[in-house]
Amino acid sequence: MLDAEDGIAALELLTHISPDLIISDIMMPRMDGYAFRKELLKRETNQFIPFIFLTAKDQKADILKGMQYNADAYISKPFDPQVLVAKVGAILRKYARFNELIRFDALTKVFNRQTLESNLRGELNRVRRYEQKTTILMVDLDSFKSLNDTYGHDFGDSVLKRVAHRFKEKLRDIDFVGRVGGEEFIIVMPNTDKEAGLFVANRIREGVQNLSFEHPEVRVTFSGGVASAPEDAQEMERLIKKADMALYRAKENGRNRIFTA
Ligand code: GH3
Ligand code: MG
Ligand code: MG
Repeated sequence: MLDAEDGIAALELLTHISPDLIISDIMMPRMDGYAFRKELLKRETNQFIPFIFLTAKDQKADILKGMQYNADAYISKPFDPQVLVAKVGAILRKYARFNELIRFDALTKVFNRQTLESNLRGELNRVRRYEQKTTILMVDLDSFKSLNDTYGHDFGDSVLKRVAHRFKEKLRDIDFVGRVGGEEFIIVMPNTDKEAGLFVANRIREGVQNLSFEHPEVRVTFSGGVASAPEDAQEMERLIKKADMALYRAKENGRNRIFTA
């Protein structure tokens, strides 16, 4: 837990840390709680941090004003610590569930496209700053339409889940994966050059190929395109484009293979 003197000190702190929850007084020197809250709501990175007003101001007008600023709770002093703890718990649980819904793909439980892109952008900033390498693998499942046509859409869905799960099994803790289209995924391997990335990509490809399903004759394969930052591109859209072009060549050359940019 970290304390700040007033709104200005808190805003300064928030440029370095990202807390799970903010509890703010209203009457404070320099910048009061309302102005602090107003400023937070303007900041993209701070506006969704759970926020509670805890204050001696207890008039109806104060409470109404507090709620105008989208506070998650307004608690007047003196307060019962048990009630405060319970409220904080309820708010955090709600946000956790909400975060899960907006960050992950509902079917496969890997990152959705938006989360993947935002994390990849962050990773590429790190690459630039620390002169590191990062490799991505763009994946498109082979002939997935005919799998759906033969065995049904529900079976197709179950295959997507199993494949996504297999990706996670084959990756290191620092790697991450997102579903970026129907049967398309991007796997990000931080701190990995193209050669090592290609090696991992082929290990993942074999891992998926070896999966067995309720229809024993089914074999699922994918084609992949590998691209690395900074050598192929430094900027996210271009890097993905390069991986996508390599993937396209993998498809053209017979599928179930990985090509590099
Ligand atoms: P290719 O090897 O060229 O990639 O062939 P493909 O059939 O995989 O490619 P295409 O892009 O023609 O078809 C992708 C199919 O993936 C279309 C759609 O039926 C299926 N698909 C997309 N999203 C989902 C999903 O959420 N669930 C299921 N079951 N199928 C999906
Ligand atoms: Mg596709
Ligand atoms: Mg496909």
